[in-house]
This record gives sequence, C-alpha cells and structure tokens, in this order.
Amino acid sequence: MKKFAVFGNPVAHSLSPTIHQMFAEQCDVAISYDKLCPPLEDFAGSLEHFFEDPHAVGCNVTMPFKGEAAKLATRLDHAAQLAGAVNTLHRQNSSMRSEDSRSEVSLNGYNTDGVGLVADLKNQAVALADQRVLLIGAGGAARGVIHPLLNAGLKTLIITNRTMAKAENIASQAGDSRVVALDKPGLAECRPDIIVNTTSASLGGELPDLNNISFTQCQLAYDMVYQAEPTVFMKQALELGAQNAADGLGMLVEQAAAAFTIWTSMQPQTRPVIEALRQQLRR
Ligand code: NDP
Repeated sequence: MKKFAVFGNPVAHSLSPTIHQMFAEQCDVAISYDKLCPPLEDFAGSLEHFFEDPHAVGCNVTMPFKGEAAKLATRLDHAAQLAGAVNTLHRQNSSMRSEDSRSEVSLNGYNTDGVGLVADLKNQAVALADQRVLLIGAGGAARGVIHPLLNAGLKTLIITNRTMAKAENIASQAGDSRVVALDKPGLAECRPDIIVNTTSASLGGELPDLNNISFTQCQLAYDMVYQAEPTVFMKQALELGAQNAADGLGMLVEQAAAAFTIWTSMQPQTRPVIEALRQQLRR
C-alpha cells in the first residue's frame, strides 16, 4: 500500500484525503492518505518521521508550511522555485549518510497550484491566450500561479494588493515585461478580461477593495476560496457586471490531480471528483 498525507496546521478541514482516495479508486491503486497536523515549530521533524516509512511515497503541504517545505526539498521544480513554496513533495530515493548512518530521503518539491488554476480556467471554457488577467492579492497563492498563467500566453498580468509593496515585489521578481503591479489609479484604466481573487478575504465574508476595478468586460471572476454557496466576491463581481463567476473548488481538485500524476504517473479524471465534492459541500 502506497502511503500519502497532507501536512497543515490546521488541517482538519482539508478535502485532500477524499480527493486522493477518489483518484486512487478510479485508477485502481491501493493508497492510504492521512491528515497530519504537526506543531508549528516541528514540521521538519514530522516530515522526517513520515518518510521513515518505506511505503511513504509523497505528501501535500498546506498552510503554513509551504515555504518551509521549499527549503527542505532536495530539488524544486520551476514553479516551486519561483513561488518559494511547495505544495507537493515526492520521495526520490533513500540513501545512507556515511557519517552517521541515518537514512537520508531525497524529496522533489513541486508547486501545482498554478497548473491547477490554468486547468480549471480551461474547465470554465476560458481561453487565456492574449487576455488581460488581474490578480487581486499577492500572497503565496498569487506567487504560485504567475508563471503557469504566463506560459498560457497571456497578454498582460496585473497584480494588485492591499499591501502594494508585495505586489510590486512579485512583479519585479517575475522577470517578464507582461507582469505589472498597479494601484488604484492604474487599475481604473486596465479593463481585465479575467479577474482572480487570490486573497483569503472571502473566508471571513470580506471583500478586497474593488474600487476602481472594472468588471464590465470581465468574462470570468474567479475566487480561489471555495464554499458551499457562491462567495461574497463572486456575488459582488456578478453585480458589478462580470459575465460569469467561479470558486476555487475546481482548482483544488486540479492541483491535486497534478500531484497524483507526479506520484503515480497516472492521470485521474477530475470532473466526477469536482461534481462529487460540490454535492458534498452543499449537503
Ligand atoms: P497568504 O496568507 O499568503 O496571502 C493572503 C493574501 O490575501 C494577501 O495578499 C493579503 O493581503 C490578502 N488578504 C487577506 N485578507 C484580506 C482582506 N480582508 N482584504 C484584502 N486582502 C486580504 O495566503 P495564500 O496566498 O497562500 O492563500 C490565499 C487564499 O487562496 C487562501 O484562502 C487559500 O485557501 C486560497 N487557496 C486556494 C487554493 C485552491 O486550490 N483553491 C490553492 C491555494 C490557495 P496583504 O498582503 O495586504 O496582507
């Protein structure tokens, strides 16, 4: 039996075990998948303990350990390097350290959030090529999606944030002239085709500052947060003229599918899993 887990603190709310068990069933693989909640100061110790089991193949990592996971990984993929954050670890091999004879596990680190978002935008029948995309928020989630979005052929990627210095920092580190950070005056001019709320504001029923953002030409307003009901951001975006609105449940399932493929080389179907979780959330 292949062993997996998600590490987070808190982690009780995580849907990852349900999603991966559904993928495993589809692909006819026997897995165990646990939720692990290490103390904030002992992620590294808990991770080491998990990988002491030779059946441990990989794990997901969620808040607040994604940055630390990037530091603990032996190698990082491009998206994880740029984000400075890892949501998926995959064991490569075990070798013996000669000096102390302890087993040393080699872990590859990935960030699958961006491919998850791009895949779910495709699910919503949104084409990204030549589009103007606005990201509201400049935390870890925004960092993780920038390069997969650029790789999809965007015309412009605008980032705005309550704390503008963070948006400016991401834009300057992106190393691509299509990425710009804009504060209120600039936002009034930008008329984005797709608007993605990458903030956690909806979790508390709050809205980021939407003044000066035009929704009238927006094909899709996307909130990375998902809830049983449409989020406050989705409702407000539709009122302000967005054509469609979606939440981040599809992104969650798509980023999990990318992790499952990294671990098993199998590609599970995501649509039935998204539909099952949607029903489960509404119950
Ligand atoms: P971070 O803590 O790194 O960043 C939070 C961001 O939200 C910052 O830009 C912060 O602004 C902003 N913010 C928080 N509260 C407010 C508010 N009331 N008004 C305006 N801005 C606010 O979190 P992450 O970037 O890692 O995650 C953001 C959200 O995305 C989370 O809710 C997470 O669950 C979700 N997510 C969903 C995924 C999915 O698969 N659906 C995948 C990854 C993340 P400031 O910088 O000014 O503090």
